[in-house]
Amino acid sequence: MRIDIVTIFPGYFGVADAGGRVAESGPLGVSLIGKAAGRGDVDFRVHDLRSWASDVHHTVDDTPFGGGPGMVMKADVWGKALDHVLAAAPVPGAAPARLVVPTPSGRPFTQETAASYAGEGHLVFACGRYEGIDSRLVADARTRMPVDEVSIGDYVLAGGEAAVVVIVEAVCRLLPGVLGNEQSHSDDSFGGTGGAMSGLLEGPVYTRPRTWREHEVPDVLLSGNHRAIARWQRDEALRRTAVNRPDLIRRLAATPEGLGKRDRQVLADAGFPVDAENVAH
Ligand code: SAM
Repeated sequence: MRIDIVTIFPGYFGVADAGGRVAESGPLGVSLIGKAAGRGDVDFRVHDLRSWASDVHHTVDDTPFGGGPGMVMKADVWGKALDHVLAAAPVPGAAPARLVVPTPSGRPFTQETAASYAGEGHLVFACGRYEGIDSRLVADARTRMPVDEVSIGDYVLAGGEAAVVVIVEAVCRLLPGVLGNEQSHSDDSFGGTGGAMSGLLEGPVYTRPRTWREHEVPDVLLSGNHRAIARWQRDEALRRTAVNRPDLIRRLAATPEGLGKRDRQVLADAGFPVDAENVAH
């Protein structure tokens, strides 16, 4: 997979060379993602937006039409950057690149989005700053490529760089060969369709020692009974999800395969009965 990132702060990603490759010490150069990049499974290129500004000050922003506080990033500078990145990096035989624009006003970025991006050949990220990017950039890009405006949560960051690190990490850990155990992401919170945690948050996890400060590991996990362990894990996942994310339980309850009889009993015992009023429509 090829990932291009356009930003006014290339240093945020730890750029290693003039080609925009990421440094081993940067957030995309360490751990599993760094290893994937080292193997060539993902090719990161970081670009400085200011390279496409035409004035001596390398200006990338201007005051907003209609007034108001703050500055808006200029469509003409962004347009040139995008033209260059797309022309310089065609992935042979691949579908057109997808432009991803992080913004608090975008659609929520979810595990499902991450899984669909993991199937793409080329992602281009546009990191906004200030009040965001002139909206004509997205309108223009949509005429030639798929474009997603995505939000990583209901809060406002100072810039898109942190959002890009979040998105890239969520996507890259789903690429084949990145996680040591391929099953581990289907057992994670929000695990893929049909996974053990499909639509749920993962329950509690434990490791040695068996007793720590008088806290014991639940007996069932030491029983060797894999069926009982799997059932306990699902029960705990249901309880935790009901407390922390009742919206997910309502969504599961609305799907035919979402919750079994035992699941409903566990939820009822936990004080979260799933009845007609509790189901998402
Ligand atoms: N004026 C914008 C608004 O109210 O929607 C906020 C702009 S924010 C200060 C600057 C940049 O940070 C955005 O263009 C975007 O790149 C990034 N950003 C901020 N919050 C974000 C979020 N929740 N998800 C994704 N990107 C975000």
